[in-house]
Amino acid sequence: MVNSVTNDISVTPKGAWKECLKFIKAKVPFLTYNTWFLPIKPLELNGAELKIQVPNNFFIEWIDEHYSSIIKKTVKTVLGETGKLVYVILEEKDVVEEATVIANKKDSPVQEEILPVDNNPVTSELNSNLNPRYTFDNFIQGEGNQLARAAAIAVSQNLGQTSFNPLFIYGGVGLGKTHIIQAIGNSILSKMPNKKVIYLSSDIFTVEFVEAIQNNTVNDFSNFYKSMDVLIIDDIQFLIGKEKTQDLFFHIFNTLHQSGKQIVLSSDKPPKDLKGLNERLISRFQWGLTVDIQPPDFETRIAILKNKSENYGLKLSNEILEYISHNITSNIRELEGCLIKLLANASLNNKDIDFELVKKTVKEIATGREVKISIDFITKVVCDYYKVPENKVREKNRKKEVVTARQVAMFLSKKLTQSSLKTIGLHFGGRDHSTVIHAYNSIGKEITTDARFKETVDSIRSKIELSID
Ligand code: ADP
Ligand code: MG
Repeated sequence: MVNSVTNDISVTPKGAWKECLKFIKAKVPFLTYNTWFLPIKPLELNGAELKIQVPNNFFIEWIDEHYSSIIKKTVKTVLGETGKLVYVILEEKDVVEEATVIANKKDSPVQEEILPVDNNPVTSELNSNLNPRYTFDNFIQGEGNQLARAAAIAVSQNLGQTSFNPLFIYGGVGLGKTHIIQAIGNSILSKMPNKKVIYLSSDIFTVEFVEAIQNNTVNDFSNFYKSMDVLIIDDIQFLIGKEKTQDLFFHIFNTLHQSGKQIVLSSDKPPKDLKGLNERLISRFQWGLTVDIQPPDFETRIAILKNKSENYGLKLSNEILEYISHNITSNIRELEGCLIKLLANASLNNKDIDFELVKKTVKEIATGREVKISIDFITKVVCDYYKVPENKVREKNRKKEVVTARQVAMFLSKKLTQSSLKTIGLHFGGRDHSTVIHAYNSIGKEITTDARFKETVDSIRSKIELSID
């Protein structure tokens, strides 16, 4: 039986969390500890239940996926058999979500209970579907989204009263449409919690409609949406080809519009290009304001990256920020993805985020797949360079240039692939893993003593890396 700190009644949330950190620190790599555990803050301790604050949902997911067994052990050791760790995401001083880890639960418990905490009894009946993460505050302004942002703020400040009804925002994938239209809803609810605000995407709307038909509740369905103060529908292009849903939506639209209720829509195209959508809907969409979001320019990409990395407690050099912004240009979701992947790579491999890691990660994102360099491909490039037939390096051939080619190919296979020494050996005529180690060490040594040889190996290496696109 392990002694838990909760046996000591003088313990504070800070003290208990400190104990947890001590335990975790001993079990995970330093960077992991710094990235994922250090930013967590203790909030409250009630008996064996410790409430801690995490920066966002991604943290919970990541920790759950990678460190759940360590967390469970920690909880058990520090808080005892009945110990519980409750994650809380705090945004703008409001409790948003909670999730609980219980010491004795068997498998991945972190996301087990996501309990939305409702502080407001009036709105508690209606689930707005809004993600509190999407706010105007964390929406970085740039030339491409300036107009959309200004219009969205205007709408949130003068519900249904501006001529921006509907507000129709369109643009390509990952440019912030969902973010900005949800920010409208969040901003309204933060000032006027009694307003009935609902967000959903048009395909969910369609699914609900089909269910309503099956259950004979179309009237309820329609009245529900007609009773909203603010109706936010994402990706309206998914209504294309769905005649009946379009008809119903037309009626809901009219009712809301006539009573001065606000409608906000997003789409991947401007209304006039929504071929397959009923003309009368298209013309309604054009009653209000249509604004586009354009891809972010270089400076905006840097600002977004900087902002997001700082949210993760990460300080990236200008060189790195510029490199990423130069190479990932099409959308913001990819910029964000790059950052998350960088954090993940660095923390999994216990590496610092250095330029090499950045280059590798950007390449993975840019090509949309993991860069996989095969041992055979390495062998081919090396043999080309040394003008040695490939089969020779796999045979028992001790000619000098064959030995060099074989050893360089083994060295680079170890450097550039995830393969084990045994696998590498198998690719070279079933050689033993100790032969691979020997090759790796002797090439490694030669590189440090012979600058020209290093140049050769470097140039072969970049040839290999550059052909992987
Ligand atoms: P879309 O709906 O246009 O496909 P999203 O709204 O889902 O794009 O945006 C993709 C991701 O990029 C989201 O995580 C969002 O928060 C982020 N994002 C987009 N635009 C911005 C911005 N201007 N500032 C900060 N984050 C942004
Ligand atoms: Mg979207």
